[in-house]
Amino acid sequence: MTQNILNLKRFNTLGLNAYCKSLEIIEKEQDIKTLVKGSRTKFIILGEGSNVILDAPIESPFEVPVFINRLKGISVRKNLKEKVIVRCGAGENWNKFVLWTLENEFGGLECLAGIPGSVGAAPIQNIGAYGSEVCDVIESVNVYDVERNLTTSYSNKDCDFGYRTSIFRNWTLGSFLSNFVIISVDFSLSADWKNLNTPDYASIKNILPANPNGLDIATAVLNIRSKKLPDLKVFPNVGSFFINPVVDNTKAERLRKKFANIPIKTLEGSFKLSAAWLIESCGFRGAKFKNVGMHLKHALVLVNYDDSSSQEVLMFAEEVRASVKEKFDINLKIEPVILSSSERSKYFG
Ligand SMILES: Cc1cc2nc3c(=O)[nH]c(=O)nc-3n(C[C@H](O)[C@H](O)[C@H](O)COP(=O)(O)OP(=O)(O)OC[C@H]3O[C@@H](n4cnc5c(N)ncnc54)[C@H](O)[C@@H]3O)c2cc1C
Repeated sequence: MTQNILNLKRFNTLGLNAYCKSLEIIEKEQDIKTLVKGSRTKFIILGEGSNVILDAPIESPFEVPVFINRLKGISVRKNLKEKVIVRCGAGENWNKFVLWTLENEFGGLECLAGIPGSVGAAPIQNIGAYGSEVCDVIESVNVYDVERNLTTSYSNKDCDFGYRTSIFRNWTLGSFLSNFVIISVDFSLSADWKNLNTPDYASIKNILPANPNGLDIATAVLNIRSKKLPDLKVFPNVGSFFINPVVDNTKAERLRKKFANIPIKTLEGSFKLSAAWLIESCGFRGAKFKNVGMHLKHALVLVNYDDSSSQEVLMFAEEVRASVKEKFDINLKIEPVILSSSERSKYFG
């Protein structure tokens, strides 16, 4: 008997051919209970596939079912004087949700406009841009716990948010197969539309009008993003491929002595390096290997130029990592989650 093998190419923004034996779209909360239970607790769940490397070639497809989260719905739960609590379904598109908050004159998400992906994945790596992180406005995250067959709410504090991390990200990395589903996120947004924090970035400040509101800030952010990043429709990618490394004072001083112009940002007692700068210094900006390369416009964006395989992507990433290690003694960490049908993810994770 032949079994249908399905291609997940259109479900990941890197455009990798990756195969599975079963694919289901989750549209209602009830679907989770029925489908997820049938999968005997282990499965892969995707939002829009903009932060994953799917490593499952045709000869080794995912054996576990793949679920695509499309749980929708946005509602105002509480309307307090200075704040509003808004619940958003995990399967809503992130940027559409940000635009909805702006149409309603709710502040807090304007700096995060234009980030691809779903609302449910936003807390996982605590998405951030231009000095804002989604954890600044998350009230709680509502999660279906498969093993216990119940829905639990994690308060902001329970989520253990950090730079590009959270309790959920740690669960995901521990075992790449999921046994939880984020079903919705509650946001605490500002009703004071006129007094929002302006991002402390010259490129944005320079194009903002005096006394900007949330929409002005988001428009400036979208404008800068479209200039800085390659067009996703033309150059399949997952945004930043590596996380900006954070080092201690001793290491930062050592680097400053050796590389006089190295950019280092102070971050609450530690020091953040620019992964893009490190990669560019190793000569990888615009470099290509077979069908993969770091984009000329932004050295941190790895692009699938033409139907490359996950193996090519991971081999190229390894080359970049090895060069940065050799020159700066820094271990770059891959930002997207590697979902692999083989043992490879353990090596690269
Ligand atoms: C062009 C581009 C620019 C980007 N810019 C930024 C940026 O500025 N800042 C930033 O922080 N990120 C950025 N990203 C990364 C990405 O947009 C975010 O990480 C986004 O939140 C991923 O959403 P997704 O729905 O695509 O997640 P997916 O890629 O589908 O999934 C990511 C991980 O979350 C898990 N997951 C997804 N949904 C659920 C759920 N409902 N329940 C449980 N687990 C789930 C998946 O299993 C996987 O492990 C960028 C990506 C691209 C392509």
